[in-house]
Amino acid sequence: MIREVIVRHIGFPVAEKLKGWPVSKYLRELERSQWLSPEEITKLQNEKLAEITRYAYDTVPFYKRLFNDRGMKPSDVQTIDDLPRLPILTKEDMRKNLDDLVSSDYKKSELVEASSSGSTGEPFQYYISEDEKARKWAGLYMLWNWAGFKMGDRHINFVAGPHRAFKSSRPLLWLESKLSGMRTISALELYEGNADEFLKEFARFKPKMIRGYASSLYYLAQSVKRHVIPLTAKAVCTTGETLFEFQRELIESVFKSKVYDGYGGEGMVIAGQCGCSSGYHIDAADVILEIVDSSGRRCPPGVQGQVVLTDLNRHSMPFIRYNVQDVATFSDAICSCGRGFPMLSSIAGRLTDIGVTPSGKSIVVHFFTGMFMKMAPHVNGFQVVQEQPGLFVLNIVPGIEFETVRQEILDKTCAYVGSDVDVQIQVVDHIPATTAGKRRLFISKCGIPAARSQADIKE
Ligand SMILES: [Zn+2]
Repeated sequence: MIREVIVRHIGFPVAEKLKGWPVSKYLRELERSQWLSPEEITKLQNEKLAEITRYAYDTVPFYKRLFNDRGMKPSDVQTIDDLPRLPILTKEDMRKNLDDLVSSDYKKSELVEASSSGSTGEPFQYYISEDEKARKWAGLYMLWNWAGFKMGDRHINFVAGPHRAFKSSRPLLWLESKLSGMRTISALELYEGNADEFLKEFARFKPKMIRGYASSLYYLAQSVKRHVIPLTAKAVCTTGETLFEFQRELIESVFKSKVYDGYGGEGMVIAGQCGCSSGYHIDAADVILEIVDSSGRRCPPGVQGQVVLTDLNRHSMPFIRYNVQDVATFSDAICSCGRGFPMLSSIAGRLTDIGVTPSGKSIVVHFFTGMFMKMAPHVNGFQVVQEQPGLFVLNIVPGIEFETVRQEILDKTCAYVGSDVDVQIQVVDHIPATTAGKRRLFISKCGIPAARSQADIKE
């Protein structure tokens, strides 16, 4: 308890000063914004939008050209309703124009070069300033606060790859862990031979929160269950990839805690669950989130579409109407928690998590998760790859007596995808993770194209 208070009031402020990251200041702003009324939040978004478009026009060559080519002035974009006058940018647009997207107010050498995993595995590169990273951390702390976590509380960060920070220095690693209350477990260090002792040590640590990618925490929960280790927490926070219902169920039952799923990307904290409903609050003080159909037209609440983001605080490399290639649905529900931030009813996942057959049928990963979960222990892992519109390959890690369910898998899948599609089973040793350490259950190599605006399609 004393340690938590010291971290919160002394350790963290000192670390912020040393690093030049005003996280607490931004967190206080966010904590105020979340309780504003929907009308006040829209007003705040409009003010920030007008400022960021003016800034982008004045200092970013790409946006100056974009406005000029359309005969537009920054004053033409004053409100969220004006946004559709600007085109939707795809990852490809951003990638091709990376150099021209950095503001002349910033030197590239002073920015952090970051990358996120792209839709088909290739990394997407962008620049972000240290100050903007501090804002991102404030957004993350806000989401964790929703789960009951407070700065300084003991928590476990379960990572898929090696622990990067201070990896070369054991004393610094120890200091980081003592100061932040964070212990990092890497999936690379956890294997059957050492799981018992390894996990018992983390159970003795008594974390308040456990966080990580959904698939990583599912793997951790399986291991904890197998070894009957009393590793529990007050909250589990998932992020980084689609959280499936079967993963939520196991994680909640093993860690005896609610799962709070968060959603972010490209340096933005986009939305998160508050625990009062199954929906997600959009971090509307940081982003404007639009949902559009494949022609770029806005979708009303209840209609699923592609997520288009405008970051309201990013000046070093502005993201204005950026199609992040995820699929989600707006909700017009008011959450019982009383927060004014608007809601998403669901986040279906990446655009490449949805396949379309030659006859036009949409194929979703949830069918396969449902089918394979019922087939445990015959199937230990799977990944579905739509190689071509008419070819689905099921990569399967076989479990006990897999051959007894092989035909059933083929029959059920063929009935689901339709007669115009070939289905093949490929037995594999393991499902490889992406470079970011995520394990994707469904990949369509020929799925729905990223939406652009009507205006662009005519060009
Ligand atoms: Zn809520």
